[in-house]
Amino acid sequence: MPVPLEGTFTYEVPPKLAGLVAPGVRVLVPFGGRKLAGIVTEFPATVSAEQAAVELKQIEQVLDEAPVLNDELLRLGHWVADYYLAPEGEVLRSMLPLAAESEVRRMVRLTPAGVHFASPVTDALRRRPVAEADLRRRFQLAADDLRKLEAEGIIERVSEARARRERLNPLVALSGDASPDVRLTRREQRVVQLLISAGGPLPASELAGQAVVPAALIRKMAERGLLRIQADAGAQAWTGPGGPAAPPLHPLAIRPSDHTLNPQQQAVVDTLRGLLQQKAFAAVLLYGVTGSGKTEVYMETIAEVVRNGGTGLMLVPEIALTPAMAEQFQSRFGPTVAILHSAFAGRRRSREWRRVQGGEARVVVGTRSAVFAPLDRPGIIIVDEEQDHSYKQEETPRYNGRDVALVRARNANALAVLGSATPSLESRYNAATGKYRWLELGERVEQRPLPQVEVVDMRQEFLERKKTAVFSRALVAQVERRLADRQQVILLLNRRGYSAVVTCRSCGTTMQCANCSISLTYHRRENSLLCHYCDYRAPVPQVCPQCSSEHLYFLGEGSEKIEALVAGQFSNARVVRLDSDTAKGKQQYESILRDFRDGKYDILVGTQMTAKGHDIHRVTLVGVVSADIALGLPDFRAAERSFQLLTQVAGRAGRGDIPGTVIIQTYFPDHYAIRYAAAHDYPAFYEKELRFRRVMHYPPFTALANILLRSQKLELAVKWSGALSRRLAGGNWAGVRILGPAAAPLARLKQEFRYQFLIKSERRATLHKLLRDCQAFARAEQWPATALVIDVDPFRLM
Ligand code: ADP
Ligand code: ZN
Ligand code: ZN
Repeated sequence: MPVPLEGTFTYEVPPKLAGLVAPGVRVLVPFGGRKLAGIVTEFPATVSAEQAAVELKQIEQVLDEAPVLNDELLRLGHWVADYYLAPEGEVLRSMLPLAAESEVRRMVRLTPAGVHFASPVTDALRRRPVAEADLRRRFQLAADDLRKLEAEGIIERVSEARARRERLNPLVALSGDASPDVRLTRREQRVVQLLISAGGPLPASELAGQAVVPAALIRKMAERGLLRIQADAGAQAWTGPGGPAAPPLHPLAIRPSDHTLNPQQQAVVDTLRGLLQQKAFAAVLLYGVTGSGKTEVYMETIAEVVRNGGTGLMLVPEIALTPAMAEQFQSRFGPTVAILHSAFAGRRRSREWRRVQGGEARVVVGTRSAVFAPLDRPGIIIVDEEQDHSYKQEETPRYNGRDVALVRARNANALAVLGSATPSLESRYNAATGKYRWLELGERVEQRPLPQVEVVDMRQEFLERKKTAVFSRALVAQVERRLADRQQVILLLNRRGYSAVVTCRSCGTTMQCANCSISLTYHRRENSLLCHYCDYRAPVPQVCPQCSSEHLYFLGEGSEKIEALVAGQFSNARVVRLDSDTAKGKQQYESILRDFRDGKYDILVGTQMTAKGHDIHRVTLVGVVSADIALGLPDFRAAERSFQLLTQVAGRAGRGDIPGTVIIQTYFPDHYAIRYAAAHDYPAFYEKELRFRRVMHYPPFTALANILLRSQKLELAVKWSGALSRRLAGGNWAGVRILGPAAAPLARLKQEFRYQFLIKSERRATLHKLLRDCQAFARAEQWPATALVIDVDPFRLM
């Protein structure tokens, strides 16, 4: 059941449903006064005495004709629930993007007695049951009116699940024959602008959403002849569960590559091919420097699997990286590939999922949850940028898609390939100890050099110029040169907004979020202060709310300010910004990148979004405005994250014929993360970081878990963490280090106070036992289900 409770629940199969219920099928059952859709996991051979003592409730409706989760996936779900201590029902639900397909409605029908009763309402029900909402609307009934009729035994109310009708989502295009001097309103201009930058038709709902206009406006524009509306080719009605599957495509649908693999790529593909032939589980860590052509290797290896009748799965980090990668896969594999993307909403997502389940799509490219794609026994599972934090789900179930991928590959006797230019310490260590096989693409394609990196010491810069400046002289000079040569520049500052904090100069008060213990960020375009954790917003104060002083300071630049400063400093440059404020969705993100790639802008300013795998050949300069933001975070992975981000963004420079340059500005030029990133020296970084992890007992040398206690009441959070602390102290946990309880780095978040324990254990089995014990304790103490949060292999310790 999709509820935050452990374990499974037992129901009786009524005779009329016998034969329809099978493991992996969804069923509608009564649950705590409601009707919920659950998934059948097994038929217990015996019913326990406890269960036999109570009367079992019956399954009411079977929602699928064929299982939506096969044995392999049910088993995987079970593993995830166990390893991450997550409720199995919630795990299984998050494996299925099918919620949009069906809906549960409350229906009203006449009782046998009610049939003899004459009234407008009963007359309306005589032929068939009617949805409660419809009935109430039609007869203006209050909930109480129905309750009365029910009490009188005239009607009864039942829940019923049914397939949701597919709403058509037509495509909208610019009509070529609109007169050029037609006057457009601001909103209409936005619609037209979006269609121009998309370079083709867009689904009506996406267009309306992106342009922030009502759907009616788009219809009106079409009536005026400004837009053309065409049916959505992909929107065939869903044929229902177990509907006809398209026949598998001929393997020759795979188009050959545009490139001949270079010897280095060929050697890797050959090794992978050899491993595939063994048809046994193997894990490979593929270390490939930025621009070494990893994508070609992935596609070539997957093509090999598909040619031999198998299926392949490729995971990519968050939405940012997907479009470019998806395009390459689509042009190579055609309709054989399905894209499972968290940015796809509702039906679009379930439709792609059904194409995989039906066997029509045999290659899947997708983000984290695509690791659960219903492929039939995948032969290869690739995780690109395996270190990326977006593989970790930061809500229940808190799984890491990379690690689930490895387990799935092991269960399926498949080949797992983890790719990266900056492998995580954990994976690199696994390769060093022989758990994974290590393969390398040590050079960029076509003998292109890695970029030259210059580290600018901002302390020195200050001493020499006697003033603080955001851009060093070296960076300014380099940018000017690229502008003169008509080359492109990326400037990274990994913090959004205009100013990081607003402080009062008189009393020192910093403007804080009302719900979180974090300072608010000033956003100039929206003219408000925003919380980046809970979206709380407040107007920009004119005077200090504490002391009424007018001297308010705006400190710490964000990407919005960098954009403004760049525009001021380089007045002839065309500047565009890429961060989650300017790229609110997939469409905007892609159009900004497309425009930059097409040369409509000279300088791209932004957050870590600019560092992801883009391959833009005219970018010859990357400037890191400040390398220091991530270094200061209270997290043992701070150095690793900084190294990864710097390497990633540096990797955007010089991917074409002209070699690239990188400038890193920092107040800590001697920090090893910065030094080794500048030297492109991953091995040295790894050795140094590994020593730190060993001394400090962090992964990969220990198994780590974070236990969080949270409550809106501070006393409760304190009380519970005290109780848990005593419980842990009373246990005999050899080889375990318990840090805490301590206020979490974010001591208050979304109105909840948070205390945490960090558990480091030499042995994973012990860690697991300890966490189970905490869970049992929480249950015995009857803490609310959301009070205790267990995060196994945590990424963020905030
Ligand atoms: P990575 O992911 O390792 O950073 P990409 O896969 O993005 O690298 O490849 C970098 C660039 O090299 C791309 O433009 C790609 O088309 C090109 N490329 C890949 N393989 C070859 C090859 N064998 N010959 C020439 N160019 C190649
Ligand atoms: Zn003040
Ligand atoms: Zn907040």
